[in-house]
Amino acid sequence: MRHKRAKVYKRAMGIYTQAFNFRQPFQILVSQDILLSLNKESDIHKQLFACVQGNVKPMITQCCIDALYKKGRDYQPLVDIAKTFERRKCNHREVIEPDECLKDVIGQTNKHRYVLAAQSVKLRTSLSTIPGLPMIHFNPRGVLVQSPPSRATLKYKDAMEEERRTEGARVLDGIVDGDNVLGAAQIDGGQRAVAGPSSSGQPRRNRIKGPNPLSVKKKKRKAPDDQAETATKRKSSEPRDVQVEGSDDVRKKKKRKRRGKGEVALAIEEIRAGQMADD
Ligand SMILES: [Zn+2]
Repeated sequence: MRHKRAKVYKRAMGIYTQAFNFRQPFQILVSQDILLSLNKESDIHKQLFACVQGNVKPMITQCCIDALYKKGRDYQPLVDIAKTFERRKCNHREVIEPDECLKDVIGQTNKHRYVLAAQSVKLRTSLSTIPGLPMIHFNPRGVLVQSPPSRATLKYKDAMEEERRTEGARVLDGIVDGDNVLGAAQIDGGQRAVAGPSSSGQPRRNRIKGPNPLSVKKKKRKAPDDQAETATKRKSSEPRDVQVEGSDDVRKKKKRKRRGKGEVALAIEEIRAGQMADD
């Protein structure tokens, strides 16, 4: 169960990292009510680490730590823990409600890329419309958990991915279909650029349809004296003097076959045959 949860958190943080540029150490704004819900024996740093599956920089605002001071001496151990966190200056001259302070620090867009650790359901609900704001809280069993990415976060992420995809397709459009190849646009009156592969849904290639012409050619040339022919064919890549070592029959067939090749080839063949006769 714990392992499964870790995987879920890792995937979630992957979304924040990719779509919202979150980086480690993750800055976690810890509300005073998280500390008030903390089990005395447990290590908040470790729990935060487990919750985001990465290095953390816990932070606390002036207003939040002030709320702990106000609790009195009994809560000094919590103040001590809070003092191990980085102090986030909120610049509220008059101390305000912790929830209001956190809202203010996070702002409309969470531009500083904070992770919010807070118990207040009211606060978390009111901030759920901000995309890219991971949230952490203690569940009823006292386990620190990360909430699944909000709908706003997922919507933003999808939009980002769609944008990247179309952008990538636009770049590929120029490379893959050869519109940027010299003369390609003239082939069909330059209409390629208008009707891209994205509109047809299929990649466009300048490929001749049908079977490989080379394989077809081989079949056509199939003759009764198949074996002899393939034998000479194989030899044609070998040096000439080896080739002419065959029987007279084979040589004749060869000549007939080569006639189609053109006059120059034929002439060479005849000269060679003549040389052979001389030998
Ligand atoms: Zn404040």
